[in-house]
Amino acid sequence: MISDAVGKWEEFIRSRYWDDLLELAESYPASRSLCLSFPDLDRYDPEFADELLENPDRILEAAHIALLEMDLPLEADLSGSHVRIVGLPRHYKTRELRSDHLGKLIGIEGQVRTATEVRPKIVSAAYECQRCGHTFLVDQSGTKYSEPYECPNDACDRRGPFRFLLDRSRFVDAQKVRIQESPEDLRGGEQPQTLDVELEDDIAGKIFPGDRVVINGMLRSYQRTTQTGKSTYFDLFLDGRAVEMTEQEFEEIDISPEDEKLILQLSQDPDIYGKITRSIAPSIYGYQDVKEALALQLVSGFPKRLPDGARIRGDIHILLVGDPGIAKSQLLRYMAKLSPRGIYTSGKSSTSAGLTATAVKDELGDGRWTIEAGALVLADKGIAAVDEMDKMTTEDRSALHEAMEQQTISVAKAGVMATLKSRCALLAAANPKMGRFDKYEPVAPQINLTPALMSRFDLIFVLTDDPDTARDSNIAGHILQSNYAGELSTQKAFNPDITQEQIDQAMVVIKPEIEPELLRKYVAYARKKVFPTLTEEAMERFKSYYIGLRNQGQDSNKPVPVTARQLEALIRLGEASARLRLKDRVTHEDTERVIRILESCLKKVGVDPETGQLDADVIAIGMSKTTRDKTKIIKELIREMGGKEGVSEEAVISRAEADGMEPSRAEEIITRLRQGGEIYINRGLLRLVRDS
Ligand code: ADP
Ligand code: MG
Repeated sequence: MISDAVGKWEEFIRSRYWDDLLELAESYPASRSLCLSFPDLDRYDPEFADELLENPDRILEAAHIALLEMDLPLEADLSGSHVRIVGLPRHYKTRELRSDHLGKLIGIEGQVRTATEVRPKIVSAAYECQRCGHTFLVDQSGTKYSEPYECPNDACDRRGPFRFLLDRSRFVDAQKVRIQESPEDLRGGEQPQTLDVELEDDIAGKIFPGDRVVINGMLRSYQRTTQTGKSTYFDLFLDGRAVEMTEQEFEEIDISPEDEKLILQLSQDPDIYGKITRSIAPSIYGYQDVKEALALQLVSGFPKRLPDGARIRGDIHILLVGDPGIAKSQLLRYMAKLSPRGIYTSGKSSTSAGLTATAVKDELGDGRWTIEAGALVLADKGIAAVDEMDKMTTEDRSALHEAMEQQTISVAKAGVMATLKSRCALLAAANPKMGRFDKYEPVAPQINLTPALMSRFDLIFVLTDDPDTARDSNIAGHILQSNYAGELSTQKAFNPDITQEQIDQAMVVIKPEIEPELLRKYVAYARKKVFPTLTEEAMERFKSYYIGLRNQGQDSNKPVPVTARQLEALIRLGEASARLRLKDRVTHEDTERVIRILESCLKKVGVDPETGQLDADVIAIGMSKTTRDKTKIIKELIREMGGKEGVSEEAVISRAEADGMEPSRAEEIITRLRQGGEIYINRGLLRLVRDS
């Protein structure tokens, strides 16, 4: 009986939620929800709590009636308020939903993938009969809009015509969101399953793509329609009634007291760096420097808020550039698996949202604009491993600047505006455009990334695949050993002669020194508990190193080696280095380590290939100073020699040669200028485009 249920609710609310109810009545209609915790109800009356899960429509309606019927000490009309149940005992993932769950109150756990704008939805349509003038309401609680059939006025009874009365109809704010399973709940390679959720009134517009949520509501279905008519298959959606945020991240990893002991013990190990480094992708041979940087990326620095409101990111962004087939993708996959909230994706991603986010016109919102989250949003507070970064779309390219530095992504398209969070560390890999890497050319143009984007990476590693017998034989040995170990463990199922001992022995090469499970806890502990500060000494060291690099460029003929971005990178890396030892001071040991790492990167990337000097312009504008100077000379020559008519390429090249420039270099610069649209050819003669 519904009146029983109403009575139960009244009793329950009066005894446990009286203050909350008064608060609601006072602030109504600004706030319209009374949140009740399921465990409270379960303790109060377990049978009734079960009943709520089984028959939520009826029981929740009773709750609403109870709310309206209760005598309050203050005058309040709560007719537009809602009872919302939070803390359901079990949270389902979308793939676990079955037809048994239809009509039940369940909690769905996942990540918001897309969300439509909030728009009014009609709940009760007002009509006026044109014949008798009677006005009446047509309830719109179904999924389809219902038109009036005949005039409800008994004296009239005619079938219209009717006039729709917009201002007498009742609307609520409504939004549709699509939830998908969180990346950490997926086993490798599984496609996440999604579920559409409808949210109404005050809970609409509260959640954004990328948010991790639990949504409680009733699972409902509607019939699919095909071109030939109605289908026997039904689709599911959730009639969402309460939204709870979840924050599963590094901080949420369970660390038991025993774990903590183990972690602290590990941090005392003098070779802790080596141990962690060797535990990253052990099946991949070499790359000590890269792995060391990856270890630092795992813990990263921490974001800082400055008094003026600015925010400095703590996440360390790393770019791996290099020839194909040298295990870049493997490293990325490993890191995505190792890090909580790690996501592995390709720049040429298959979803329309790509790496950042987009607004799309979507069937989800009946053709409304919908915001869809891309990889960097979904990896919020984790690591986004983006392979084949060079192949990303133009939209991503421009959105990435903001995403990497401010760690937000703004979508403004067709009137939809939103700012999503992307507080993740980016680990990217890029292949050279021409298939192989050319050591004698600056990096940026070769990998199709703009210098502005490149400069946002804290560390850029250039990995080239040069034949080297000793190294090759080591890699070969390593690959053969790991494959052999894999073969043995596969065969064990069929061949009883293979012992566990043999397998263990073969596995030695690829076994991480610290088990991934423990390493993850170690990292979580560091990120949660350790916030190091720079010592006086460390500050001095970073400053003098930075000034030293800058000084190389003081004399205007020399290139400027680094920008302030590298100084921030040093600080972040320094913090990460101290964190990795669970130390709260950045000391000499840390500064030397990160300067060594940064230097080795700069030497490969920031060096002018012609002079061997450090040069920030190589990163910052994709051209070294010598190339820039030479380009200027060539342009000057064309201007001077060409006059109004233009000049032949040969003439420019031979003049340049007379001035001491190699002909091949001059030719290359001319080609580049033509590609860049700075010069053009008219009747076989080179001419400068005006203003360039
Ligand atoms: P990339 O993404 O750089 O093109 P992949 O990650 O796809 O290369 O690597 C190709 C294959 O070569 C992988 O199976 C990888 O395990 C193997 N490989 C390449 N270099 C190494 C190495 N140093 N140690 C172990 N395996 C390697
Ligand atoms: Mg690859």
